[in-house]
Amino acid sequence: MAADLGARGTARQATERPHPATDKAPLVLSGANVVMPTGTVEQGRLIVDGTRIAGAAPENAHHIDVTGHWLLPGFVDIHNHGGGGASFTSGTPEDVLKGIHTHRLHGTTTLVASTVTGDMDFLARRAGLLAELAEQGDIAGIHFEGPFISPCRKGAHSEELLRDPDPADVRRLVDAARGHATMVTLATELPGGIDSVRLLAERGVIAAIGHTDASYEQTVEAIEAGATVATHLFNAMPPLGHREPGPIAALLEDERITVELINDGTHLHPASLQLAFHHAGADRVAFITDAMDAAGFGDGRYMLGPLEVEVADGVARLVEGGSIAGSTLTLDRAFKRAVTVDRLPVEHAVAALSSNPAKLLGRYDRIGSLEPGKDADLLVLDSDFDLKGVMRRGEWVVDPQLG
Ligand SMILES: [Zn+2]
Repeated sequence: MAADLGARGTARQATERPHPATDKAPLVLSGANVVMPTGTVEQGRLIVDGTRIAGAAPENAHHIDVTGHWLLPGFVDIHNHGGGGASFTSGTPEDVLKGIHTHRLHGTTTLVASTVTGDMDFLARRAGLLAELAEQGDIAGIHFEGPFISPCRKGAHSEELLRDPDPADVRRLVDAARGHATMVTLATELPGGIDSVRLLAERGVIAAIGHTDASYEQTVEAIEAGATVATHLFNAMPPLGHREPGPIAALLEDERITVELINDGTHLHPASLQLAFHHAGADRVAFITDAMDAAGFGDGRYMLGPLEVEVADGVARLVEGGSIAGSTLTLDRAFKRAVTVDRLPVEHAVAALSSNPAKLLGRYDRIGSLEPGKDADLLVLDSDFDLKGVMRRGEWVVDPQLG
């Protein structure tokens, strides 16, 4: 089927000036499998004009044949601690930009920067630094993972710095982020947990249940209070038990919850991923990297907040105790794994990597699908699902060099 995605658009007037962001000729990418919210359009075409996806091709457009390739919306990562050797929790602004760029090279065109547990004063200062990057449009917001988490499920967070989710402390971090706090991960069963969930919901910040030792009933209570995300479902929470179903059952069964999954082949057994997709459905899963500094960089010794981490064969573990300490995943790998190893339909993988997280961030009007009027954030993949091109807001971050 040949389709023109711009059929409903109106042609630009000849007198109209080029988009101010770029003087480049509009671009028509044609012949690809274009993954749209309604399904995949075979031999479709996509028009980029300035920084946006356009509805119709102007006469001066430059045409690129991408036959045999896939065109997907850029990936959206809502949980990411760093990459390219840089940490979002401790790096300089230049380091943070380097980490963001590393993930862009791997298809992540929208990224929420995550912090790890630290001292409250440190995290408040960090929020200020990251808020500047959010104001510049480099990141889509800030995710605080810790310090309001359970010592029983602390993972790679420093135990002595953990604290109960006192709403006053939660408010302090949200305020320090100057409107750019997007998500706070909480062990909602701790004292102050439910009040903190209510506070976050009122402030329009996602309350995410994670690093938690909550029971099924306690999790239901937190969802009723306004929590909407499960931080890396299965990891850092009690396992599913037949008499004590715990948080996993409560999070999977409630339609208000989006579940994060780390699809790197290390954090989850493939059957657990299938279980989550089966129960939550493709519209309620968000693939995340939970990446640390070594993502897109290499094995070696790193720091995750105040803790030392050894990365070997791409798996990050705490030097002390051996807990898994984030991942070295990039979302291009998560996508390829989803469609080749997990055998998910391409459209479901795209939902988990683009549209669902974009909706969660309240930005689906601008990103998360390849529809006219949205930001030209798009990916070109070959027929083996290897990433060949990355465009962000109309600019090639990785030029597919196809003509
Ligand atoms: Zn994390």
